[in-house]
Amino acid sequence: MSVNRENPAVLIIGAGMTGICLVIKLRELGITNITVLEKAETIGGTWRENRYPGVACDVPSHAYTYSFEPNPDWSTFFAGGKEIHEYYQRVFYKYGVNFVTKLGEAVNSCVYQDGQWTVKTAKGNTYVADLLFSATGILHQPKYPDIPGLDSFAGIAMHSARWDTSLDLKGKRIGVIGTGSSAAQLIPELINTPGTDVTVFQRTPQWLVEAKNKPYTDAQKKRFREQPWRMALVRRLSLWTFEQGTSALTSDSWWGSKMHALFAWNAKRYLEQSIQDPLLRAKLTPDYKFGCKRVVMNETFYPAIQKPNAHLVTEGIERIEPTGVVTKDGKLHELDILVLATGFDPAAFMRPMEFRGRDGLSIDDAWKTKVQAYRSLLVPQFPNFFLMLGPNSPIGNYSVIAMSEIQADYCMELVKLWQDGKLREIEAKPEAVQGWMAMLKSKMGHTVWASGCQSWYLDKDGDPLTWPDSWKNWVALMRDVKLSDLVS
Ligand code: NAP
Repeated sequence: MSVNRENPAVLIIGAGMTGICLVIKLRELGITNITVLEKAETIGGTWRENRYPGVACDVPSHAYTYSFEPNPDWSTFFAGGKEIHEYYQRVFYKYGVNFVTKLGEAVNSCVYQDGQWTVKTAKGNTYVADLLFSATGILHQPKYPDIPGLDSFAGIAMHSARWDTSLDLKGKRIGVIGTGSSAAQLIPELINTPGTDVTVFQRTPQWLVEAKNKPYTDAQKKRFREQPWRMALVRRLSLWTFEQGTSALTSDSWWGSKMHALFAWNAKRYLEQSIQDPLLRAKLTPDYKFGCKRVVMNETFYPAIQKPNAHLVTEGIERIEPTGVVTKDGKLHELDILVLATGFDPAAFMRPMEFRGRDGLSIDDAWKTKVQAYRSLLVPQFPNFFLMLGPNSPIGNYSVIAMSEIQADYCMELVKLWQDGKLREIEAKPEAVQGWMAMLKSKMGHTVWASGCQSWYLDKDGDPLTWPDSWKNWVALMRDVKLSDLVS
């Protein structure tokens, strides 16, 4: 079968931040035969899905922006979810990504055969592609807690990522399970709603860094518009700070340890200065290393949790009954609404699709022993397929947009090599995959993630699912395409 390598048929699954970026980059290569399949009726990925009160990005707005599409109009230092969603919608239409996007097209299966991918959707449509990109995001599938009786709850129970925006919260008794980044944003909103009584069920205290959120004035926005270097400076400084954080979490070198100690001291000081009651402070004090779980960046949680209508419960949950949550001390906490801010399955890439590579190999079988992808992107036996933001991407607290752009650039380099005939198919050699996994393993022990806490950063073997080295080293690696690692 002859493939038009100059303008191949490209399918992208997902019209979120990464999918939009890919269309723009592919067009820069002159590729126009692109189709984006989006399961929902609107675009925007995580910012469409997460609609809980207080949803925001804890990465500074100017750093959480495409490098090629700065936005002088961000209203605050950390933008809210709605504003970020609107930004993506603007970019989507401005770059004409809408012309190649099919909404309401949930992908059911992707099967590779004879050099092509056949993709079927829930609507019964079939698409054929030469190159396939999964741009479905990392944290997409909600994780529901395995607590006895959860289904018996007679009030309203919902996951933070499945928020019912029509719900009237006023005067309600609300329980929240979880104290991660989502919970820390939504709990203050619930507490500050008139007449509510909010019970927070905390299993593990979180390390929390104060993230002061200031509005940008009209004068500042005007300066950003007229002198774009100002936006670029805010972006660079913000990213530089996060880069130091990444180094502190991934290196036990002298510098890494000092940076780690500084970040930990700062978080501890914030806790001590913010929480007046010593008992509450003790409950909120983590007993594991700073950064072992994803650091929560927030300025509203500590003030809110001290309000009279807020209760922090640390006794542990025994079961859930129709009227509320029973903790291990036997107490029934009666509730009208139960919020499950219990996170996501970080390894559910592509699921629940049926996904088959060469010789009918299913992704479940391919990953039976380990979820792995060469440079986070290329899955052995799944040729001409790119798993965007795949395992061991440098997730954590860094800007996921910056990450996505760099991965997209790397993919474009591979596509160019393939177009030039230097690659028969885009696939990593088995020994390169083994080398990649060995390299990751050798670095993991130096990271704080492997220092003995439980978090979504770890896979089932306790190995970090994140990039275990500095941001700088990751970027250098991604800018260096090693042709010898690829099947030629
Ligand atoms: P998460 O960080 O995984 O937190 C889940 C919370 O639920 C934890 O407190 C966990 O307790 C608790 N939990 C889970 N199962 C439980 C159970 N059976 N019983 C009691 N407690 C239980 O989830 P998330 O807050 O949704 O955040 C996930 C990720 O999304 C973040 O790490 C971040 O990457 C991203 N996010 C980003 C932003 C942003 O502003 N950029 C905002 C929100 C989320 P344990 O700690 O004990 O496990």
